[in-house]
Amino acid sequence: MKEDLLKNPVFGMAAQQFDNVADFLELDEQVRERCKWPKRIITVSLPVTMDDGRTEVFFGHRVQHHLSRGPVKGGLRFHPSVNVGEVAALAMWMNWKCALMGLPYGGGKGGIACNPREMSMGEQERLTRRFAQEICPFIGPEVDVMAPDVGTNAQHMAWILDTYSTREGRFVPEIVTGKPLELQGSEGRTQATGHGVAFLASRVLNKLNLQTEGATAIVQGFGNVGSYAVETMSSYGMKVMGISDISGAIWNPRGLDSKALLEHVQKAGGVAGFAEAEAIDPDEMLLQECHVLVPAALERVITASNAGKLKCRILAEAANGPTTPEADAIIEARGDIFLIPDVLCNAGGVTVSYFEWVQNLQRFSWTKAEVLSKLETKLNEAFENLLSFCEKRNCGHRMGALATGIDLVARVKKTRGLFP
Ligand code: NAD
Repeated sequence: MKEDLLKNPVFGMAAQQFDNVADFLELDEQVRERCKWPKRIITVSLPVTMDDGRTEVFFGHRVQHHLSRGPVKGGLRFHPSVNVGEVAALAMWMNWKCALMGLPYGGGKGGIACNPREMSMGEQERLTRRFAQEICPFIGPEVDVMAPDVGTNAQHMAWILDTYSTREGRFVPEIVTGKPLELQGSEGRTQATGHGVAFLASRVLNKLNLQTEGATAIVQGFGNVGSYAVETMSSYGMKVMGISDISGAIWNPRGLDSKALLEHVQKAGGVAGFAEAEAIDPDEMLLQECHVLVPAALERVITASNAGKLKCRILAEAANGPTTPEADAIIEARGDIFLIPDVLCNAGGVTVSYFEWVQNLQRFSWTKAEVLSKLETKLNEAFENLLSFCEKRNCGHRMGALATGIDLVARVKKTRGLFP
């Protein structure tokens, strides 16, 4: 099992990061092993009736990295390249992220290998419900709480909530987060991840004595995270010059109008062809000069081949795992890029998911202003703690963020002891 997981490049990368941090923290061998490997890996086959009458079998995975500090928390991804190694890596990162943010959760992640862009909503509903039904024995508000990720949204969470609640015979909103408001979703959850990315980017601009207003940005990915990061950065008066998605990349050095672009994407299905911008090669776009570069799509896009050529002042990792360890080493050696590591940068999503779960458990709801202000307080606290840790321990931001999370999990494992 260990070898199979390590063969996967994304899990290999998460494991390599973990080993580096474990060395840095001088974790003893027993605790190291207990922290590194996932507690549960669940794979289910999902037969679904397609619109043309065929039965297609999909495979879905859920990985619960550990349950030592509370239920696991993490998204459910629909993407053709989903595999168990990638899901396990994402679960491991969620683990460190929840600990870094002080949330009472372990990390989890789920994924179904499918292409939602080529599936009708009816097919997606049947697939989601079948997955929820198969996974029901392994989840619960105190065990595993799912949320949207790449390729899924509030509607998918509503189907999971409905399937689970029907099975339980009662309404259980706390089974998922990131659900629609009318099903007791939280105000502010949809924009939370992107809002947090923009908030942290502006905090860093501030630290670097740079003006937020007029600062330039480039964003890869214009889905949930990317689009709200663009919206919040634009609301701060920042100029987002380049945006890419699966359809291509667009460029306007005077700044892209986020509202007009959203309308275009709703009609055209992607950013390509937006009238108020030129087309640019998506890989070249990442290399243009800007204050803030935001990878907000998939993992492993900043690599050894482009890390040396980046011309950004701040790398705000909105996606999970966008930078390979080789690229990390190059960026650290350059010393001219301020890294906001993914486990902190995109933690707005899980933090407001936590707020949503807490509101659901109390059958109480907060206003959007309350949610976003509590989010900013929590992100700012984690950001300042990270800077002090890095200064004290003389380490980079990725090491500092992961070390803070891993150290807490390791201490919990040690204190709880090993059963039997
Ligand atoms: P999403 O499905 O809403 O959007 C993904 C975007 O990436 C789309 O615009 C898509 O077109 C684009 N994309 C896909 N392949 C691309 C490519 N090769 N080049 C450029 N763009 C490409 O997903 P999301 O929820 O916005 O998640 C994006 C990232 O943020 C993922 O890494 C996810 O794990 C991470 N994340 C999401 C949340 C959340 O709350 N949604 C929270 C934390 C982290």
